[in-house]
Amino acid sequence: MTISELSAEIQAVRTKIAVLGQLLYEKRLTDAAGGNISARVSSHICITPRYSGQRRRWRLSAEEVLVTDLQGNVMHGEGAISRESKVHLRVYADFPEARAIIHAHPLHVLAFCVMRQPIPPVLEATLKFGVIGVTQFAPAHSSELASLVSEALRGQETRMKQQAAAVLAPWHGIFCVGCDLDSVFDAVERIETNAKLILMLRSAFGEAALQESQQALARSVEHWRKS
Ligand SMILES: [Zn+2]
Repeated sequence: MTISELSAEIQAVRTKIAVLGQLLYEKRLTDAAGGNISARVSSHICITPRYSGQRRRWRLSAEEVLVTDLQGNVMHGEGAISRESKVHLRVYADFPEARAIIHAHPLHVLAFCVMRQPIPPVLEATLKFGVIGVTQFAPAHSSELASLVSEALRGQETRMKQQAAAVLAPWHGIFCVGCDLDSVFDAVERIETNAKLILMLRSAFGEAALQESQQALARSVEHWRKS
């Protein structure tokens, strides 16, 4: 890749991150309190700046999306990277498969984070993420959280390569890591829908009926695989 091709790609990724940040907020997949979006381009990381939600309500321009090196040193753009960027940097360092990351606070996913409950797939569209687990607690901006998220992603490299893998941080939010920005955004939205459905279905039909549906989904998929 030539330098001008690289800078064109970085610019395109910054634009995409700005657009997705606004969409994430508009679709209530995160709040003004937090979240961050990043993507790796060669040895650069494009990442939303600190206070993207709190001060800008996720209305970022492409130029406001920062470009850093793999250690998080800002190379282009004004301001500081988010304090939650430690998780992003660590995951990119540990997994070559990781090309894009969204950390978000979607309301129904947060219910599972608060109760420290994993999110099982209840839709065909979320089977590919498996059961999304919850890490141990570490504070939002700590290096310990970065280690815990990285450990939880270990063994999920194929999911990252194919679309995305996700992990929940207790009392906090979701980290979704995947092969590109579109795939990761799509994953966050699917997982939030899945989480909302679990809560709705439990109260409408009861836990036993929901479990029966999950088992029937697994059996049906298996049946089609064999036939
Ligand atoms: Zn957060």
